[in-house]
Amino acid sequence: MSDMDQRTMLELSERIEGFFEELPPLLAGVEGMVERGKAYRKALYDAGLAGLEVPSEYGGGGYGPTSKALFARLSRGRVPAEDDIFTIGVGMAMPTLLEFGDEHLRRRYVEPALRGEEIWCQMYSEPGAGSDLAGLQTRALRTPGGWVLSGQKIWTSRAEVAQFAICLARTDVDVPKHKGITMFVVPMDQPGVTVRPILQITGASEFNEVFLDDVLVPVDHVVGEVDGGWPVAVALMQNERSAIGAGGGRRPVPFESLRDLVHDRDHAAEPRIREALANCYIGQRLSELLTELEADSVDAGVPLGAETSLGKLWRSTNGRVAADLVSELAFASGAAWKPGDDRENWAFAVLDACALSLGGGTDEVQKNTIAEKVLGLPRDPYRTDKMPFRDLTVGTQRD
Ligand SMILES: Cc1cc2nc3c(=O)[nH]c(=O)nc-3n(C[C@H](O)[C@H](O)[C@H](O)COP(=O)(O)OP(=O)(O)OC[C@H]3O[C@@H](n4cnc5c(N)ncnc54)[C@H](O)[C@@H]3O)c2cc1C
Repeated sequence: MSDMDQRTMLELSERIEGFFEELPPLLAGVEGMVERGKAYRKALYDAGLAGLEVPSEYGGGGYGPTSKALFARLSRGRVPAEDDIFTIGVGMAMPTLLEFGDEHLRRRYVEPALRGEEIWCQMYSEPGAGSDLAGLQTRALRTPGGWVLSGQKIWTSRAEVAQFAICLARTDVDVPKHKGITMFVVPMDQPGVTVRPILQITGASEFNEVFLDDVLVPVDHVVGEVDGGWPVAVALMQNERSAIGAGGGRRPVPFESLRDLVHDRDHAAEPRIREALANCYIGQRLSELLTELEADSVDAGVPLGAETSLGKLWRSTNGRVAADLVSELAFASGAAWKPGDDRENWAFAVLDACALSLGGGTDEVQKNTIAEKVLGLPRDPYRTDKMPFRDLTVGTQRD
């Protein structure tokens, strides 16, 4: 079955178990999202458990894909929430650099990300390009000094704390929209990059608008081919969906908390509530099993593909079912709270659940992907992917 023999698997399992048992004192007294996230990552790296599947020459464990699934399984529910600030860097950008980046990009960026020294964000979405990502309008022009980027990004999670961004920009407007896109690594701390936080319904502010005004990017910070960024962008989104499906990023309310809530509110005997709770358990288990299936496929030499949309869709469906149950049981506590009181967590869970259905691609987009690429159903008839980008008008760029 595996790229690891049983003995290595056992030894690794024991180390992972030992690490999580010893973790609480290492984080005791560390305050703040970034500080706690970094402290966790450093501890993980020092224990030799960061990026188990990443080749050892780039600072990883060199154990191959199965080790990733093993870690995901044994660490479930035990990774501090603050590690989310590394989901984009470690879960999405680094696998993409490892697959498509030049050697100097891999050597420069992978290990610091695994160590938790550098935080990344993803500058894909724009005001006119979300589901229709290939309609993006941020321009990159080649100059003697490097690439110069101008445009606006939006919903950029963690840009306020990130040192680097994986960024898509248009490098040719005379070809169909999927063809003239290039992926760049953009250092965030430089003139021309303006980050403005967006306030969310939960009161949190985890994503931003990012304005790029003549931002200079070194020539050697292109990932993949110039004008050939679309397949790289898709590969990153598959890593994103896989990372979200495997538990990275925001998390639905876990089954165990829901079960406790059902008991606390004395609803355990009600068939309808029991059924909803069972559905939450099934959803959570399905997400876990899909992650393991994915790892088995990668292990067998099949790269990540459109199937990653299944895990992402399950996770958001599960998040919504869980939020509905919480809002029914927690009642007013699920909608109103005073900052700092116990009810805040339930209200947050309810208000935040819709984000699971949007971030990483909406549920509808996942369903389109599953329909077209997994089930082989006919494609959207209103496609515009043969026309040069400059001839498209806003509102026709649907695919
Ligand atoms: C919590 C969160 C974090 C995010 N973080 C990031 C980030 O770090 N970086 C980043 O680049 N982006 C990020 N995003 C943006 C996210 O990827 C987009 O919100 C998402 O792709 C949808 O794009 P949109 O908001 O422009 O909606 P639109 O694309 O305008 O969609 C509006 C509605 O129309 C539906 N729709 C659109 N096209 C179709 C179609 N062809 N078929 C069926 N239905 C369709 C959609 O499903 C949706 O319901 C984040 C979003 C959230 C909520």
